[in-house]
Amino acid sequence: MIYTSTRDSSVAVTASQAIAKGISADGGLFVPTEIPKLSLDDIKRIGSLDYIGRAKEILKLYLTDFTEDELTMCVQGAYKAGKFSSDKVAPLYKLDDKANILELWRGPTCAFKDMALQLLPYLLTVSASKSLKDTGIVILVATSGDTGKAALEGFNDVPNTRILVFYPVDGVSPMQKLQMTTQEGSNVGVCAIKGNFDDAQNGVKAIFTNKEIERKLAENKLAFSSANSINWGRLVPQIVYYVSAYCDMVNEGNVNLGDEINVVVPTGNFGNILAAYYAREMGVPIKTLVCASNANNVLTDFLTTGNYDKNRAFYCTTSPSMDILISSNLERLLFILSGYDDKKTAELMKKLSTDGKYDVDADLLAKIKDVFAAGCCDDTATKATIRETFEKHSYLIDTHTAVAVRVYEDYTADTSDATPTVIASTANPYKFSKSVLSAISDDIKSADEFSMVDELHEKTGEPVPVQLATLKGKTPRFTGVTAKEDMKQVVFDMLGISDSDINS
Ligand SMILES: *Cc1c(COP(=O)(O)O)cnc(C)c1O
Repeated sequence: MIYTSTRDSSVAVTASQAIAKGISADGGLFVPTEIPKLSLDDIKRIGSLDYIGRAKEILKLYLTDFTEDELTMCVQGAYKAGKFSSDKVAPLYKLDDKANILELWRGPTCAFKDMALQLLPYLLTVSASKSLKDTGIVILVATSGDTGKAALEGFNDVPNTRILVFYPVDGVSPMQKLQMTTQEGSNVGVCAIKGNFDDAQNGVKAIFTNKEIERKLAENKLAFSSANSINWGRLVPQIVYYVSAYCDMVNEGNVNLGDEINVVVPTGNFGNILAAYYAREMGVPIKTLVCASNANNVLTDFLTTGNYDKNRAFYCTTSPSMDILISSNLERLLFILSGYDDKKTAELMKKLSTDGKYDVDADLLAKIKDVFAAGCCDDTATKATIRETFEKHSYLIDTHTAVAVRVYEDYTADTSDATPTVIASTANPYKFSKSVLSAISDDIKSADEFSMVDELHEKTGEPVPVQLATLKGKTPRFTGVTAKEDMKQVVFDMLGISDSDINS
């Protein structure tokens, strides 16, 4: 299978090259030039396997330059027994007659990012062994919370890799901070920067694109790569759980093989819902993909009007992982739906960077509306949904999942669409204890985040994930704080490289 760039169709690379590079030199994203198909018989066969088996079957359709043994090693490493708190890895929870919650947060860091970031390090090391012989990989991450921890946990002690995470010193929750600063592993580093998330992101980008630093790394047999959601190696593991969810819908008697389902996804960077789109195009019987947004509803507007406009107020909501105005992975959808038109996609992305907005034509909008529905809700509705869902079903959901549940309810009320539905649940509620507790309880007694975990547990009886419960007593390993101008020095110190002859 050949991968090309959304901005230059003359690019042709293998899966391992696409994963090792992360992003195309022209600024475009890598996409496969065709989408492999699954018949209902294939789906039936895949449904008889465990999660590791299912993952291997899907990955081998996309990663055609990986050997059978390499694929086996990757999926067994990522999803081996004990890593996820369910032996199904991504189980379904039946909420009612029609709605089923797909629990994607049972991994080591309690957010859905684990589904991909547990696998990516394996995919990346195999990819690098093919295209970057004898070269160690250095992953730099700027994070506003969930991605940093999931990436650290995924790359923890993976041979031939180093990972360094930068987070804004006052920009993450106490829980998220402690999750990162107590990270174990001999190849990891974490550093706070005096600045906000944009400063961290800009600093990382500047280091990535500095030719001098690249040369210095190469001298030391090292190369940078990316663990961001633009890397194809993060998208392909996400396709797996949508195929798997359909298999479980059939196995658990919610639908007959071949019957259609709808899928609702709480969306930020458009990676998760794009994976569901790929599953649909492969032949999984999915009718409608419902894109759920919080108050930052740039995607709701785009998917209903064809007008993308990021020139608007930015809100800090109780579902922070969806506070985003530029959804990077949308570029892949535009490319596919325009008939793999690189010129058109490049032109739209140029408009986005110069004007902050673009319009798609009626033809493209019609294709979008064939597949996607969209809705949004604010923090008040999010809070009410957490409470109602708990009172009605005795099931506790986090703020991001609540956005999806609310948009699902609005969608079914508006359309009378009674198709059985899978709702993606992206975080364990204890990861956002303060917001979830305030939705459930009218008078909170606790003052700090960790007491709130206990209080939420007392109120609801929901089990607290051990990895969050045990954080409280841990001593941070990484206490460094750096000025944003000195990030480069932190990178060299970690890698043990002298930067005497670097001057930029
Ligand atoms: C990252 C994240 C999202 C958004 O997913 P995208 O793939 O960026 O659309 C939603 N919920 C949680 C909890 C997340 O961490």
